[in-house]
Amino acid sequence: MTALLGIDYGGTHTKVLLAHERPSGLERVSAEIFRTPRSETALSELAGLVRGLVRSDRPSAFGMTVAGILDDASQTVVTSTNTPWLNGRAPARELAAQLGAPGVAVHDGAAAATAEAIMGAGRGRDDIFVLALGTGIAGAHVINGSVRRGAHGAAGEIGHVAFGTGRRCSCGQYGCLESEIGGTRLGARWDEERGAPPGSTARDVVDAARAGDAAAVRVLDAATSALAQSLLGVVALIDPGAIVIGGGLARSPKWIVEPAVAKATERATFHRLPPIMAAELGVWAGAWGAVLAARAAAGGTNASVLGQIRRVG
Ligand SMILES: [Zn+2]
Repeated sequence: MTALLGIDYGGTHTKVLLAHERPSGLERVSAEIFRTPRSETALSELAGLVRGLVRSDRPSAFGMTVAGILDDASQTVVTSTNTPWLNGRAPARELAAQLGAPGVAVHDGAAAATAEAIMGAGRGRDDIFVLALGTGIAGAHVINGSVRRGAHGAAGEIGHVAFGTGRRCSCGQYGCLESEIGGTRLGARWDEERGAPPGSTARDVVDAARAGDAAAVRVLDAATSALAQSLLGVVALIDPGAIVIGGGLARSPKWIVEPAVAKATERATFHRLPPIMAAELGVWAGAWGAVLAARAAAGGTNASVLGQIRRVG
């Protein structure tokens, strides 16, 4: 039995999942979500939290997601708008020294997409595009169980495909999908619309829309229009066999995903819309993807072996 650790390191929350590899598949042993430490010493704090979770069940290896652009070869974070304290650092190497286990960093979207493709909604399909709607927005094109990373490891940043109009995004461009529908932006938009002090979350906006708040409904309408445009862009560019939508915002399908799919269907002209499905692994997709990366780091494996992985528990 091998213990494997997956760390999904997000801008606001970090999910840690410890799994055992058994003949029947990967079994979840323990899991915890905590607020991401946000400072220069964040990785030391993270190591302490992880040690508290795994106790004596020392992992053979760990995987860690990075929300941003990662240079795979050097394992260095090139740029991360949501965790800027990691810029220029190799977080998995720093953490490996503190945890005493080998580790590998993986792009957050790539990790979640790989897990969804192999263990979740994409099981049995060989060409899917996975879109994760969270604080940031990540995308990944998964072909035969492998994410297409691009020449510089920077592919899939669908949250920062800009339409050239609209608001300034955290990346410096105008009109990015993330500036329209990113988790923190929805709350900020709603606060602006109704002249309220900042601090609302995406959840607050959906709850308000459900209760009939006109400003919240307007904010969500603009957001789902932007998402619909992005879906059509994905279809036009790569013509995937399926699109899987996950992330925190996807858990309110009636207000986010369903209207976006309806608008995309309505606006489609030459596009051949594939099945658009909800992700199955929920908030744990990234952590499962990190476990898969840990598995590869521990023993070396390939996509054809990964294709046989089942999740138990
Ligand atoms: Zn942007």
